[in-house]
Amino acid sequence: MQVDLKNVDWKTLPFGYTDTDYNVRCYYRNGEWGKIEVSSSKDISIHMAATCLHYGQEGFEGLKAYTGKDGKVRIFRVDENAKRMQNTANRVLMAVPPIELFREMVHTVVKLNKRFVPPYGYGATLYIRPLLIGTSAEVGVKPSDEYLLMMFVCPVGPYFKDGFKPVDMMISRNYDRAAPQGTGTVKVGGNYAASLQSLAEAKKLGYSSTIYLDAKEKKYIDECGPANFFGIKGKTYVTPKSESILPSITNKSLQQLAEYLGYTVERRQVPFEELAEFSETAECGTAAVITPIKKIVDPVAGREFTYGDGVNPGPVCTELFNKYTAIQFGEAEDPFGWTEVVDV
Ligand SMILES: *Cc1c(COP(=O)(O)O)cnc(C)c1O
Repeated sequence: MQVDLKNVDWKTLPFGYTDTDYNVRCYYRNGEWGKIEVSSSKDISIHMAATCLHYGQEGFEGLKAYTGKDGKVRIFRVDENAKRMQNTANRVLMAVPPIELFREMVHTVVKLNKRFVPPYGYGATLYIRPLLIGTSAEVGVKPSDEYLLMMFVCPVGPYFKDGFKPVDMMISRNYDRAAPQGTGTVKVGGNYAASLQSLAEAKKLGYSSTIYLDAKEKKYIDECGPANFFGIKGKTYVTPKSESILPSITNKSLQQLAEYLGYTVERRQVPFEELAEFSETAECGTAAVITPIKKIVDPVAGREFTYGDGVNPGPVCTELFNKYTAIQFGEAEDPFGWTEVVDV
């Protein structure tokens, strides 16, 4: 179903799938990428033996388009998403989409669906989902010869409906998301399949999500299911370095912003015990930008860490969130050159 554009409440619109007018597709056949095709169908027709279905040859991305205070529609660091999709494609032996193709598809799909780009002032955005899949029929384990890169969009409300609110997180000791030399550093659906059980168990116990430890030693913080982790210690922004973390563009950008604002950034192994030393902790990613954490519980080890007053986000998370979203919504200068305008 499409959102009813006449009666939509942009503020309470959930983060979820809704139909829009068009999606864009590009096929890789005979060793080359074709022309960008526009479709109004929600369906794709693929062979039942396609490698994406059997051997997980798929990768995806997530980014947003924002209507700014000046009415212009902007996208954020699209080159970073394009490069990450290239890394994903390389890791699972898929055809690698050129950065210019990726960018052109993003601009095209936003333009074609401009009536679904939420207006300024509600924190709502147009979520863009690029997807790359192996489509040729194989039964033996080998990479596909043909690929489909497609992008669809959905208008989504602000992640936090009534203000920026801290959540409770659970340490996952019974399940790993990714192995040190596995596919944790690339955005493939298989990593999400591996995280669903842990997430479901955490939710059943009342937690918002899980935090994974490094799979090898279970000593260091890795990341949260679909988001990176950071902690604040005085004027220092600390974020884990590991072989199994997906490099979040939000995290990378927040590190740059934090340095710009006078913080020191440390990207290094973060021992689990250090959770006791942070004044603030949070998860970060495109969907929510920053989700402050008020409590981290490790049921297996019988440990609990709390942050702030248990109700409000801390001052550093608040400052970072406000400055970061001000750049995205064109309310503040973009000293980093992160945004580009879509000519809708
Ligand atoms: C997509 C993703 C993130 C967040 O990345 P952003 O580029 O900031 O949206 C973090 N962790 C995992 C596992 C992800 O798949």
